[in-house]
Amino acid sequence: MENKKKGQNDSFYIANDQFKIDCKKIRIPKIGWIRLKESLNLSGKILSGAVSRIADKWFVSINLSMEITPPTFKNQDVAGVDLGVKHLAVLSNGEQIEGTNPHKNLLDKLRRLNKSLSRKVKGSKNWLKSKLKLSKLHARIANIRKDVLHKLTTKLVQEFDVIGIEDLNVSGMVRNHKLSRSILDMGFSEFRRQLEYKSVIAGVKIVVADRFFPSSKMCSRCGNVKSDLTLSDRVYCCNNCGLRLDRDLNAAINLKNTAVGSTVSACGLISSGTAKLVAA
Ligand SMILES: [Zn+2]
Repeated sequence: MENKKKGQNDSFYIANDQFKIDCKKIRIPKIGWIRLKESLNLSGKILSGAVSRIADKWFVSINLSMEITPPTFKNQDVAGVDLGVKHLAVLSNGEQIEGTNPHKNLLDKLRRLNKSLSRKVKGSKNWLKSKLKLSKLHARIANIRKDVLHKLTTKLVQEFDVIGIEDLNVSGMVRNHKLSRSILDMGFSEFRRQLEYKSVIAGVKIVVADRFFPSSKMCSRCGNVKSDLTLSDRVYCCNNCGLRLDRDLNAAINLKNTAVGSTVSACGLISSGTAKLVAA
């Protein structure tokens, strides 16, 4: 959308009787018809709209009421998903999904822009210019991060019926400074948020393993727990049965097994006691 009222209001609400949407255009009171970059591809009763600005771009979010009929399961494909630092995610079928590290890549640029802003006179024309550049970069970083996670969570709910994930204690992990930047960049809590709402729409079950479930330390073949496994051990070597497997893949298979166990226990056959259902 064009920037019509820059600097006056960063967001405003519009009631459903105050605006019209026509394919790729929206009519807003006092402003008129404005071209949209994306068309509204959902049908339903329009309840309201909200216009907001991020950096120099204007966005409109439309609140719709829709009837959702979750699809029936075609099959019972189960996946375990291990979120990591080396890869964004490793699936129990062996698939590896790469993440981006937007902060790492754009950090230099961010530092330069911050420096150049601090050298300028606050409120001056050049200061305003630098400030806009900086907020555009922040928005870009946030968009890259969200986009990667949206692709992953959409793919997961499209391909699987039951998904086992870890209950990540992010605040505990962030205390480990070496890991903190990557973990924050990957946005684990955003991953969980997206997966949970998409699973409700798609009719997919999410099984969250217990916080103390040793998904990394347990052998996915014999169940032996290796308490001395460190973060630098990239390959899981089982002292009991001799299994050698990529560490993250081993964890993903354990999460899958937990999800399978919990689906069975939901039918009253076996009780695994290590997982809880958050969406059915
Ligand atoms: Zn083993």
